Amino acid sequence: MSYAQYFIEATYLIASCLFILGLKGLSHPDTARRGMIYAAAGMAAAVFGTLFHPDIHNYIYIAIGLILGSAIGIPMAMVPMTAMPQRTALSHAFGALAASMVGIAEYVIHGASLGGAKSGALGLEVMLGSLTVTGSLIAAAKLQEMMRGTPIMFKGQQVVNLGLFVTMVGSYMAWLVNPATAVFFYVMVTCAFIFGILLVIPIGAADMPVVMSLLNSYAGLSSAATGFVLGNNVLIIAGTLDGFSGFILSILMCRAMNRSMTNVLFGGFGAPLTAETTVTGSMREVTVDDVAVQLAYANQVVFVPGYGMATAQAQHAVRELGNLLEERGVSVKYAIHPVAGRMPGHMNVLLAEANVPYSSLYEMEQINPEMPTTDVAVVIGANDVVNPDARDNPKSLIAGMPIIEVDRAKAVVVLKRGKGKGFSGLENPLFFKPVTGMLYGDAKSSITNLTQAIQKV
Ligand code: NAP
Repeated sequence: MSYAQYFIEATYLIASCLFILGLKGLSHPDTARRGMIYAAAGMAAAVFGTLFHPDIHNYIYIAIGLILGSAIGIPMAMVPMTAMPQRTALSHAFGALAASMVGIAEYVIHGASLGGAKSGALGLEVMLGSLTVTGSLIAAAKLQEMMRGTPIMFKGQQVVNLGLFVTMVGSYMAWLVNPATAVFFYVMVTCAFIFGILLVIPIGAADMPVVMSLLNSYAGLSSAATGFVLGNNVLIIAGTLDGFSGFILSILMCRAMNRSMTNVLFGGFGAPLTAETTVTGSMREVTVDDVAVQLAYANQVVFVPGYGMATAQAQHAVRELGNLLEERGVSVKYAIHPVAGRMPGHMNVLLAEANVPYSSLYEMEQINPEMPTTDVAVVIGANDVVNPDARDNPKSLIAGMPIIEVDRAKAVVVLKRGKGKGFSGLENPLFFKPVTGMLYGDAKSSITNLTQAIQKV
C-alpha cells in the first residue's frame, strides 16, 4: 500500500469509530447532541480521506458537486423541526439515488467483467437503492400532505405487487447467471423503482415513522453493498451501521405502536380498516378561567404534549406553567408517547430544550396506571396519541396503537386551535366525552393565558 492509501484507511478507521460513538450518543437525549457532532465529524473525516484516493485525477467535478450539494443541502436543513421527517425522507431518497446511480455506472463501465461476488452485491445495491428512492419520495409526499395519508388501494393490488416482486428478483437471478445480458439488469432496476411506489402507497400516514426507519435501513444496506462493489471499507461499515440501526429502530417503533412489521407493511392488504369512528355526544368548550381553577387546586396534573405543541413552539410556556403549578404544591408530570409529534423523540427534544428535567418525563407504560388518580390531564396539541378508538375500535385505522389513556383521568382539558383532525385523519371520540373540556386557541397563547390566570387564583 502507498502512503496515500495508509492515510485514507486511517481516516476511514477514525470515521468508523466516530460513527459508532455517534450512534451510541444518539441513544439517549442527554448525549444526543454530542452524538450528532461525532457523526458529522466522522463524515467529514471520511470525505476528507477520500479526496486523497489515487484514482482521483481531477478535482473540478468534485468541487462542482460540493458547491451544488451545499447549495441544495443548506436550505434543506433550514426547514422547521416539524418538517424534519419529510426532509429526512428526501435525504434517504437522495442517498439511495446516489447508491443506485453508482451501481448502474459500475455496471455500465465494467459490464460482465465484475465477477460473481461483486455482481451479487451490485445487484442488491441497485435493487434496494432504487426502491428506496421512490418509496422515500412517496413517504415524503404523504408526510408533507401532498398525497392523501390514508392507504391508497386498488383492485388486484396484491397480485400486481407479487408479480412485480417476482419479476424483480427473477431478473436479478437471471442477470447473475448471464451478467452480459443487460436487459435483465434494466428490467430489475425498472421493477425496483415501481415496487418502491407500490410498497408505500397502501401504508397509512400513522405508520409512516416505521416505514421511514425501514427505508433508512434499506438505504444503509444499499450503501454497504456499494462499499463491497467499490472496495471501500468506510462505506461498508457506515452502511451496515445505518442498515442495522434503522432496522432495530423500525422494530422498536413497531413495538411501541403494538404492531408487527408484517402488519405495517402488508396491513393495507388485509381486512378493510375504516376511517369511521364511534363518535357520540358533542364537544364542550371551556374557558381559561375554568381551567386555571381546575389546575390550581389539583393534586396531580399530567401534561400530554403532541405535534401541536411543536408547531406552536409552546414548550417554554409549558415549562413555566409546570413550574408555577409545582410552586403551588401540584405534582406535575409530562407523559411522552413514542410517536407523538413527527419524529422519534420529538417531544423529548422539545422539552429538553425548555429544560424540563428528564426525571419529570414519563413513558406511556409508566403514566397510564396513574391516569385514574390524575386530577387533570392537559392534552397540548396531541390528537392521535390520545385517541381512545385505537384501544376501543378494532376496525379503526390506528387499532392496536397504544395510547396515553387520558380519558381515564378525572378530568381532561384539550388545547387545540379548532376541530382539526390528527395526522391519521381520524375523528377523536375523546373530544366528545363528558370528562373532556376543549380549550380552543394556539397552544402557546392558551398556556400563557393559563399561567397568567393561575397567578390570580
Ligand atoms: P396529531 O395527531 O398530528 O395531532 C396534532 C393536533 O395538534 C391536531 O389535531 C391539531 O388540531 C393540533 N394543533 C396543530 N397546531 C396547533 C397549535 N399551534 N396549537 C394547538 N394545537 C395545534 O399529533 P400527535 O397526537 O402528536 O400524533 C402524532 C401523529 O403523527 C401520529 O399519528 C404518528 O403516527 C404520526 N407520525 C409520527 C412520527 C414520529 O416519529 N413521531 C412521524 C411521522 C408521523 P387543530 O388543527 O384543531 O389545532
